[in-house]
Amino acid sequence: MDRYKKLREWMVETQIVERGIKDKRVIEVMKKIPRHLFVPEDIMDDAYDDRALPIGHGQTISQPYIVALMTELLEVKGDEKVLEIGTGSGYQAAILAELVKEVHTIERIEALAEEARKKFEKLGYKNIKVYIKDGTEGLPQEAPFDRIIITAATPKIPEPLIAQLKEGGIIVAPVGERYSQYMLKAEKKEGKLEEHYLIPVAFVPLIGKYGWQDS
Ligand code: SAH
Repeated sequence: MDRYKKLREWMVETQIVERGIKDKRVIEVMKKIPRHLFVPEDIMDDAYDDRALPIGHGQTISQPYIVALMTELLEVKGDEKVLEIGTGSGYQAAILAELVKEVHTIERIEALAEEARKKFEKLGYKNIKVYIKDGTEGLPQEAPFDRIIITAATPKIPEPLIAQLKEGGIIVAPVGERYSQYMLKAEKKEGKLEEHYLIPVAFVPLIGKYGWQDS
């Protein structure tokens, strides 16, 4: 068994299963995806640590547990069309691509988007599309979406994203202050979001028209 596969199994056991993630599909996919290929080469050996890691341009790949939690909260079954805001390393998008029909992922930093695109091509993902733009405006040309995941901290759910979510659809996002938030799971019912706030988290900021201002 290769070394990274062993580290991955250890990661899933100690950080994900023990902390209460139950969805079998999520557990299997976290065991499968080579997280070390989504971090800079010089920190590959840290890829399975219990923390977020820097991926350049001041951005981070989320902690494995947080990726598993957000994925589980999305309650995907297999035939969904998903929108992700904040491609970053591409790891979360790859996880989702294994579990749903289509992933549309938006990144505002061109270099990160290009790197992620290359990884998806190398790893053979044909159901992920990467867009370079302000994700707070969503992707009207591909709407509506069954699920939306925001992987950067937002002061509130951007209005365009609510509009682009299907009735009965689920959105998961860290919502709150610029440097501390709560994980939000919300379901769209009669055009409005029914919100459930879960655990405290700390994400890099969502920067854009309906997020934070650049500074
Ligand atoms: N999902 C990523 C983690 C991303 S970190 C992963 O699996 O690695 C958050 C990312 O959101 C950063 O790359 C940041 O550049 C991006 N981001 C911030 N504001 C954005 C916006 N308005 N539109 C698109 N991407 C944004």
